[in-house]
Amino acid sequence: MGKMYEKIQDMIYPRRCPVCDDAVGYGRGLICDECREDLKLITEPYCIKCGKPIRDETVRMCRECSAGTDRYEYVRGRALYEYDEALKSSLYRFKYGGRREYARFYAEMMANVLGEQIINWMPQALIPIPVHKSRLRQRGYNQAAVLAQELSRIISVPVREDILQRCEKTRVQKELSAYERQNNLKKALKIIHYDVKLKNIVLIDDIYTTGSTINAAASCLRDVGADNIYYAVIGAAVNN
Ligand SMILES: [Zn+2]
Ligand SMILES: [Zn+2]
Repeated sequence: MGKMYEKIQDMIYPRRCPVCDDAVGYGRGLICDECREDLKLITEPYCIKCGKPIRDETVRMCRECSAGTDRYEYVRGRALYEYDEALKSSLYRFKYGGRREYARFYAEMMANVLGEQIINWMPQALIPIPVHKSRLRQRGYNQAAVLAQELSRIISVPVREDILQRCEKTRVQKELSAYERQNNLKKALKIIHYDVKLKNIVLIDDIYTTGSTINAAASCLRDVGADNIYYAVIGAAVNN
């Protein structure tokens, strides 16, 4: 889209800062300068498996990952920011509050910070974690898909939204064991289309907490023959 079009768009619908949600004036970027510092980029040391920050510099993996990497269907993943209060409220608006425009900022940051890593994984596709179609109707968009599209424009890896589908609404998972939760999630996901063999895939989502959703998606994709599943997310909850 042309610059003029964007300028008009920005005058009618001022772009909002992903942190404070105030309008950011045209030509002043995608976030307020002051707010940029409110988000905590994950820097080294981080877990080489899940990408969460590590407080102890003498280890390479977080406690959870070193307890059992065999539980994981993915190769490894990276996260951009620590999932703290500032990021939490931003991602809440991004997901439920109609602020799909935040995707632009997060995708740019992902490309800047994680782009080289993602390209090194040599992915044939970016696959956003799908949402159920009733949720899609309520919210109007899938935040993971919008993020993947924006990222794709920058790093030139195609998005495939036609492969993985969420076929059931996931029930409240609190009372379930980790194993039951995993199984339940896997049942909720379905491969609907898998034409050419994809060797390397990068899953895209907004947040990584326990990893069960990413893991279920990776498992589905490996069942149909994808070799290496990676992921990139905006935020990762830090283990205590
Ligand atoms: Zn701001
Ligand atoms: Zn880890």
